[in-house]
Amino acid sequence: MKYKSIAIDGPSGAGKSTMAKKLAEELGFLYVDTGAIYRTLGLFALNMGADPAAEEEVKPLLPQISIKMAYGEDGLQHMYLGEKDVTLAIRQPEVSTAASKVSAIPAVRAFLLDMQRDMAKTNNVIMDGRDIGTVVLPQADAKIFLDASAEARAQRRYAELLERGVDTDYETVLRDIRERDARDTGRAAAPLRKAEDAVSVDTTNYSLEESFQLLLQTVREQLA
Ligand code: C5P
Repeated sequence: MKYKSIAIDGPSGAGKSTMAKKLAEELGFLYVDTGAIYRTLGLFALNMGADPAAEEEVKPLLPQISIKMAYGEDGLQHMYLGEKDVTLAIRQPEVSTAASKVSAIPAVRAFLLDMQRDMAKTNNVIMDGRDIGTVVLPQADAKIFLDASAEARAQRRYAELLERGVDTDYETVLRDIRERDARDTGRAAAPLRKAEDAVSVDTTNYSLEESFQLLLQTVREQLA
């Protein structure tokens, strides 16, 4: 049986995971958050005292790492580092930065590629990330490039962090977003860019519900 796949790429804070989760529910697909996989590897590098930006420190760690992904009874994707559930730990801002740094290392991307592709071989998937439509699933049945202004993304991310009780301020969040954008688009290995056949959806001026409806309609058109 041929499974269907939907690729959603875009910069940090564009709403990819919120939208992808809702779409997955609506369409009955499995949602795969690939950023969570890079975050888990970033956390591992930090735990091991390695500089996440240093290829010579991170590469030798790869054979030792055990990253697992499992779906809980809640239907949500949980990440495991060894036996430890790190689903919450990987959401800390320092792990976001570490993830963005390790993900620029070509050996890290190659190491995680099969894990991502295997999910799409055995499930109908909605996968979100930075290079899903360009590298991981270039044959995806539908491709979306989800974007919003850096300010709008920082505002949303700030509200989300506050809700989670993380102590931060808007300016810091905006600076982090801009730094991550620069790293994600400027790296040589699988940089963030829109696939030629992806449809762009800019959510700067839309509410969550409006953005979702737009996305759903665009995906349905592509799948048809
Ligand atoms: O999407 P999220 O913000 O959780 O991703 C964390 C980091 O992992 C991103 O800043 C990006 O550098 C990296 N990433 C990536 N390729 C993906 C998914 C995430 O490089 N497919």
